Amino acid sequence: TKYVYRFGGGVSDGGKGDKNLLGGKGANLDGMASIGLPVPPGFTITTEMCTRYYDDGEVFPDSVRAEVANGIAHIEGVTGKKFGDASDPLLVSVRSGARVSMPGMMDTVLNLGLNDETVKGLAEVSGDPRFAWDSYRRFIQMYSDVVLELDHGSFEEALEIAKEDKGFNLDTEMGAEDWQALVATYKGLVEEQWGKPFPQDVNDQLWGATAAVFGSWQAERAKVYRRLNHIPGNWGTAVNIQAMVFGNMGDTSATGVAFTRDPATGERAYYGEFLINAQGEDVVAGIRTPQYLTKQARERAGAKPASMEEAMPETFAELARVFDLLETHYRDMQDIEFTVERGKLWMLQTRSGKRTAKAALKIAVDMANEGLITEEEAVARVDPAALDQLLHPTLDPKAPRDVLAKGLPASPGAASGKAVFDSDTAEKWAELGEDVILIRTETSPEDIHGMHAAKGILTARGGMTSHAAVVARGMGRPCVSGVGTLSIDAKAKLMRVGQREVKEGDIVTIDGASGEVMFGAVATVQPELAGDFGALMVWADKVRRLKVRANAETPLDCRVARDFGAEGVGLCRTEHMFFDAARITAVRQMILADTEKGRRAALEKLLPEQRADFTEIFEVMAGLPVTIRLLDPPLHEFLPHEEAEFAEVAAAADVSVDTLKRRAAELHEFNPMLGHRGCRLGVTYPEIYEMQARAIFEAACDVAAKSGEAPIPEVMVPLVATKRELELMKDVIDQAAQAVFAEKGRTIDYLVGTMIELPRAALKAGEIAEVGQFFSFGTNDLTQTTLGVSRDDAGRFLTTYVDKGIFPRDPFVSLDIEGVGELIWLAAERGRATRPDVKLGICGEHGGDPASIEFCEATGLDYVSASPYRVPIARLAAAQAAL
Ligand code: PEP
Ligand code: MG
Repeated sequence: TKYVYRFGGGVSDGGKGDKNLLGGKGANLDGMASIGLPVPPGFTITTEMCTRYYDDGEVFPDSVRAEVANGIAHIEGVTGKKFGDASDPLLVSVRSGARVSMPGMMDTVLNLGLNDETVKGLAEVSGDPRFAWDSYRRFIQMYSDVVLELDHGSFEEALEIAKEDKGFNLDTEMGAEDWQALVATYKGLVEEQWGKPFPQDVNDQLWGATAAVFGSWQAERAKVYRRLNHIPGNWGTAVNIQAMVFGNMGDTSATGVAFTRDPATGERAYYGEFLINAQGEDVVAGIRTPQYLTKQARERAGAKPASMEEAMPETFAELARVFDLLETHYRDMQDIEFTVERGKLWMLQTRSGKRTAKAALKIAVDMANEGLITEEEAVARVDPAALDQLLHPTLDPKAPRDVLAKGLPASPGAASGKAVFDSDTAEKWAELGEDVILIRTETSPEDIHGMHAAKGILTARGGMTSHAAVVARGMGRPCVSGVGTLSIDAKAKLMRVGQREVKEGDIVTIDGASGEVMFGAVATVQPELAGDFGALMVWADKVRRLKVRANAETPLDCRVARDFGAEGVGLCRTEHMFFDAARITAVRQMILADTEKGRRAALEKLLPEQRADFTEIFEVMAGLPVTIRLLDPPLHEFLPHEEAEFAEVAAAADVSVDTLKRRAAELHEFNPMLGHRGCRLGVTYPEIYEMQARAIFEAACDVAAKSGEAPIPEVMVPLVATKRELELMKDVIDQAAQAVFAEKGRTIDYLVGTMIELPRAALKAGEIAEVGQFFSFGTNDLTQTTLGVSRDDAGRFLTTYVDKGIFPRDPFVSLDIEGVGELIWLAAERGRATRPDVKLGICGEHGGDPASIEFCEATGLDYVSASPYRVPIARLAAAQAAL
């Protein structure tokens, strides 16, 4: 097996670049080299080597040592420098590069190849001893941290002391001798903490760094990141070893990061930051405030320091040309790292840029309109789950706000919550159901869990490409970064802004679109859903086969769903209507009655209320099918708890409180989810379903009479296990229909069908379809009953199950395709065999989950049904599934 692929200097061993083998970074370095862009020469050690490295017990095979030596020879050939050469040394960077980018998660070592001899050579050839010694101390510092894993803080401290001794404020004031002295101090620290001198052999350095990069794949923070992003642990990372180029060789040198389009808004404008006379990590670390790339961006921000366009016009023009080449080559927005070494531009990295949902949408639609990609590709490009960000409310521009400070609008969306100053607290409070805003001076990869738990993130330091900004955008969390006026005291759990103080637990609001930080909560408004969103949805609807319905039971939800493009109601859960304060007493009276007569008396009170519910829904959903599910929950859930509630029901039913209490005790169940619920209610108390059916048909007739357009009711029976149950219930429903039609003098077309929520129903679907005209897969219960895992209690152990790879995702969120999916597939087959036109849908939570929707498409279901806000997500996911 070949483990090393070279690139640069006219070579690209990887051809077009295979991301699985070379990792994202390696593949794209290869890709850039292949189209003739200026890439410093280097080579990639493959992800297969990483896997083998772990399989072999963390050792390197001899064959790879020879290949790496070849790779070094390649770099030497192109640069004319020699690795370890005391007169003109080659320096390299060693970086990780997994298949998908994991920003900030993995290790990097720069300036490798420096030692006590080569540093002198570097000073000589560069003509800049200060630069050479600064590079050497940076190298020792990074290597000690990443490879030797020594105490990072003691190195920082030594630097601070060195500056203090000289009375300096800034690193830039340090001269060659100062750095040289610091190198000696650092080497002392290494010996003290590591017990051995700093490695002088450049090959030892190289293998140490390579092992460290492979090692960082198994670091705790990388594991957490992978879990959150569903990245398999066996992918491994590649290692990229590349000639160093220097952005810190004076005022004609610079380093920067850029996006070919604005990653926050999607606007077609070069976007980025750069620093003159600096190395890459200075930009990302947010230590010095970077300058704008373009004049326009600088002017818009009202900033003073010259933009790159103004400071280095020629290099900027070349960079702009490279941006366009990259977009044409990769046909996507690119996120780039570059360095200018003494006026010469070098490309260090390109990858498809992370972007906000808003930008993803705009870029996809713009690129299709520009002819760079097709409409179908545009549909495929937008992550349905990311649309979520766009469909949620933003701050009401008219609401009063008490603005504390303003920072950078790093990730859009608005969030209010309790202020917390560390990630563990954020996680703890979020688990207790609190909305929290995580406030940090700056975030690091150790904060991932807190950022994930928080509703929003606020940092005092860091630019638009800082860790906080990049990670928040990826997670879809609102973020305001770089709020310079904040002073945060994490130990005391408070922050100060001028005279004002915010303590842990105080409510704050951040607006990731404007960068504003506010005291207290601020009202929000619904988003606008026209423009790019509308365009993409039109394209999605052109390719989509699956219909998309909504789970909705109030007229308001139905209206939202219709506005979002729902093609019907797939699940109207009638029990929610019963909890209404005005009705609950009658509902309880009905449940607690121990005779049919008593139940009917209560149901009579409920009939007009229920009819009014359906009338409104039919009106909103005119012309579209509405699936109404008859009463489902365990009676248990409706029982009174408090003395006053018992008294109220007793008065309504005209019985004693004691009688009621005895009856309530009789109704108590140990396992209500498997108890007296679903169609079992209808079988034992048919009058309940009779009343509901009557309400449906009366409402349908009334709406038809009034509007001239007949509603399309689909009456659904829950939790059926056998054909006989459905038969009995269908009789009750049909009889109610006939009675109402006779009274009203008109008929309405309707269907009677069942939910498939029990394994037995799935298995016997052939028989059940003899009676049922449609099936709706209730995958919440079907998952619960198939796995034998309680949907209400599973949270406690399911994360462990996902961590240990037993399930790839939480099966209540994303369908267990292998298990539950097989039952669905089987039921669909058997149902269709009996009744070829049996209508098939899904109405569990999975109906709004893109991976589950893909399965529904493959199984040939007719529709998916999701909560109103997820309807657009489902439309897009259904389109992607059809592509
Ligand atoms: C289901 O079980 O998937 C379903 C949609 O019904 P509910 O969630 O109301 O039990
Ligand atoms: Mg159910």
